[in-house]
Amino acid sequence: TSFGFKQVSEEEKGKMVGNVFSNVASNYDVMNDLMSAGLHRLWKDRLVSKLNPFPGMKHLDVAGGTGDVAFKITETINSISRRATQDSTEDDFHNETQIYVCDINPKMLNVGKKRATERGLGEDRSLIWVEGNAEALSFQDGSMDGYTIAFGIRNVTHIEKALAEAYRVLKRGGRFLCLELSHVEVPVFKQLYDYYSFSVIPSIGELVAGDRESYKYLVESIRQFPSQEKFASMIIDAGFQKVEYENLVGGVVAIHSGLKF
Ligand code: SAM
Repeated sequence: TSFGFKQVSEEEKGKMVGNVFSNVASNYDVMNDLMSAGLHRLWKDRLVSKLNPFPGMKHLDVAGGTGDVAFKITETINSISRRATQDSTEDDFHNETQIYVCDINPKMLNVGKKRATERGLGEDRSLIWVEGNAEALSFQDGSMDGYTIAFGIRNVTHIEKALAEAYRVLKRGGRFLCLELSHVEVPVFKQLYDYYSFSVIPSIGELVAGDRESYKYLVESIRQFPSQEKFASMIIDAGFQKVEYENLVGGVVAIHSGLKF
């Protein structure tokens, strides 16, 4: 491939992904801000606004890491609930909102739990942390109103399996949403972005996490991820309908969505 990066085997891929997220679990959030210049926050906001969360929903955020997406969903639902409580004459306004954060790496989840406590989120037990693999979820068929995966599916060994599992756990009418680093096609911007990816990102990885190789791998994994169109067709193949995607920043990231009918 370009820039001298080698194709990695599935076993290597699993190991590298494990390394990256174990090495950086504690400074993962700092790295995100550094590498995306804070933009990942806006991208996640966009993802959650497309989800349209509602009180009482059962939602699954896969590869949820340190909880960013789940927190945004919970905060959105809390603000809707507060408004509803003000309008309502009932004092005991309760709902059964359940937001599951599933990740293969317990270190990431532990950082997430700590952050949740710091933010005063999930004290009503609406946030549930589950160690698990996107390719073999422990949740029941047709049990979720929504499924999100942000910057996660690229790391999964068999993307088709993860998509099949997303389809399986969703209820009919449930929405699948995926935020992922994608492909830039705009010529000059593409060259700038390549320079940024192949030169700047590994250097930041080396400086902050002391781990250049893992960040080189991350950049290569972005290149190997299917194009927006190809990924959309994989989502259709998994059974989803109304499949569409939105490019952000010229395709640096894309949000794919689909519905289970
Ligand atoms: N969604 C979070 C965010 O946007 O901040 C975390 C994204 S982080 C780049 C990728 C996460 O995917 C890591 O926490 C990693 O442990 C997790 N992961 C990798 N492979 C996975 C798999 N097969 N199943 C579940 N989680 C996985």
